[in-house]
Amino acid sequence: MSVRVLVTGGTGLVGQGIEYVIENEPANSHFGKRDGEEWFFIGSSEADLRNQEQTRKLFEKYKPTHVIHLAALVGGLFANMARKLDFLRDNILINDNVLHTAHEFKVKKVISCLSTCVYPDKVEYPLDETKIHLGLPHESNFGYAHAKRLVDIQNRAYKDQFGDNFTSAIPTNVFGPHDNFDMESAHVLPALIHRCYLSKKNNTPFVVWGSGKPLRQFIYSRDLAKLFVWMLRNYDSVEPLILSVGEDEEVSIKQAADAVVNAVGFTGEYRFDTTKADGQFRKPASNKKLLELVKDTGFAFTPFDKALDETVQWFLRNYNNARIGKPQ
Ligand code: NAP
Ligand code: GDP
Repeated sequence: MSVRVLVTGGTGLVGQGIEYVIENEPANSHFGKRDGEEWFFIGSSEADLRNQEQTRKLFEKYKPTHVIHLAALVGGLFANMARKLDFLRDNILINDNVLHTAHEFKVKKVISCLSTCVYPDKVEYPLDETKIHLGLPHESNFGYAHAKRLVDIQNRAYKDQFGDNFTSAIPTNVFGPHDNFDMESAHVLPALIHRCYLSKKNNTPFVVWGSGKPLRQFIYSRDLAKLFVWMLRNYDSVEPLILSVGEDEEVSIKQAADAVVNAVGFTGEYRFDTTKADGQFRKPASNKKLLELVKDTGFAFTPFDKALDETVQWFLRNYNNARIGKPQ
């Protein structure tokens, strides 16, 4: 039976991670491409998924049997704070079009991508798969969080009413090659890599936004990619699945910035701009359910420093083509 996997958001950080894993892991292994599979990695130039007609045409063209739905308006804390309505509306439209078109085209499985940002701000830690809807999200990203939470509700409604096999993955903060390195809108690691690179090049102070005290769990995009491939082949429950390193692997923003300084080889002045927001203090997520499920696959997380080093090397090699925002 032929398997046709459409990856929306296939040109982005996570999508490119999946393409890398599919092409570079041994064929027919747990994570490599299998005989009979075809993979299609789609960006916004092929279809604006906020538009229903363009979404339909995309599905008509590729006739997917499976969808990994990553496409989203995505950004770091400061983009989320500045554009709450865009994050709400664009993501509601994209998700509704993709899920409903997948339903109409009788797609066998859809895995959509949520985020630990969608969790309640005030809830008992660690976060697990049962706690998404137990309170309001942090105000800094309530647009994005509410749009993404709705995907879980839609998945359950499609299953209840039609028996569709739609589910969702919940990654923590992702980083890796092909990230958005635009310092204004990016997530913390790509923003700091870019800023530290410029500080080294121009011999200027390296400035980290906020107090450096908040804690985050970081997952390497190529590790996350393996987990998506595993989910596509093995996970058939509507219940979401957290894809994360362990809750004991939280890293402070200061530790992350120190690691960036090391990886970039910066030796100049380094300080924190405490006039900038810290966002949510922490959001530790449990990967207990995940580890039990993947225990026989040989999956292992890449050590943080190694993954960061690979990301910095990719950034340096691809500076001219990477997403770096306005020229500096
Ligand atoms: P990304 O690098 O910014 O990529 C976003 C992707 O979505 C790109 O392929 C982009 O296409 C596509 N896209 C955006 N708007 C679109 C539209 N209107 N129509 C069609 N395609 C559109 O983001 P990412 O970090 O890979 O995020 C992938 C998924 O992971 C998202 O669902 C995000 O919410 C989730 N996630 C990310 C993180 C993180 O830390 N990055 C953490 C948790 C969850 P073009 O580039 O071709 O425009
Ligand atoms: P979040 O996990 O959704 O909050 O997303 P981010 O990846 O944007 O991380 C935000 C945390 O990193 C906050 O504590 C920020 O204060 C801190 N941070 C430090 N420097 C930067 C920066 O240049 N960009 C971003 N986005 N965050 C930064």
